Amino acid sequence: MNKLLISNLSKTYNNEVKALNNINLEITTGMFGLLGPNGAGKSTLMRIIATLQDPDEGNIQLNNLEVLEQKRQVRKVLGYLPQQFGLFPKISAYDLLDHFAILKGLTHKKQRKEKVHALLQKTNLYEVRQQRLGGFSGGMKQRFGIAQALLNNPKLLIVDEPTAGLDPKEKNQFYYLLSEIGEQAIVLLSTHIVDDVKELCTRMAIINQGRVVLEGDPLVLIEQIKGQVYQKTIHKREITDYRSTYNVINEQHYLGKPLIQILSKSDPGAGFQSSNVGLEEVYFTQLSK
Ligand code: ADP
Repeated sequence: MNKLLISNLSKTYNNEVKALNNINLEITTGMFGLLGPNGAGKSTLMRIIATLQDPDEGNIQLNNLEVLEQKRQVRKVLGYLPQQFGLFPKISAYDLLDHFAILKGLTHKKQRKEKVHALLQKTNLYEVRQQRLGGFSGGMKQRFGIAQALLNNPKLLIVDEPTAGLDPKEKNQFYYLLSEIGEQAIVLLSTHIVDDVKELCTRMAIINQGRVVLEGDPLVLIEQIKGQVYQKTIHKREITDYRSTYNVINEQHYLGKPLIQILSKSDPGAGFQSSNVGLEEVYFTQLSK
């Protein structure tokens, strides 16, 4: 069982933006979802864990390693797929993966070949291995990104906003691949898309304005607010009134009219109906605070 322990982590940028404000998390083997809106601090946290940036305060341990001090050793057991993953468009998938493998120290030719072949197969790219990366779809590029991140059999795989730009089928393939990796390694998935976490993760944290605002098993978190979410379609002009009277957690449109969801421990009456509760509602309760 792998363990990542993040303690009292804080980071303020030069422009006074407190990107991380005392983050504490304990994460073990499996898929862990880090969910939060844009600007919440997710990428900052991922980069710090990936040894690419230093915090102002705090501590991170991965198994027996001190992440902030033993960066070289950490990189040997770390795979990272950043938000922006640059590829060389004219090189084939095989050649680039082979090149990355050399950079990662797989100098033994036969072993490297076996590894590269195995990873191309695992990520479902073997058939297209001789094609140029420039012609790959978004999903294929992401799977290639995972293949390179797995070259060193990482104990911790970090993926930052990985499903942006993938179509539903590509997304499913990608989810499947990640969950397979999560059987043996910690997979830390950062996303602002609730579905990514819902489909995949057995543990999650919601991060907002640099703080962990909620943490737990998604199903348990859903259970905790069951029966407390109500909804109603209203008129546009009534929105301000409802906002001041109720704890409105979400506003969307249904057949052209505003549909609001509120959080209430008891039945609010006034034409509200009990609403189904899922991870979206859990997320909205945290963001509307
Ligand atoms: P997320 O990944 O959740 O979108 P980020 O970690 O990218 O969040 O950003 C958190 C906050 O820190 C944002 O307010 C962002 O504008 C700010 N920020 C991120 N990187 C830098 C930087 N290099 N310099 C200054 N501010 C930054």
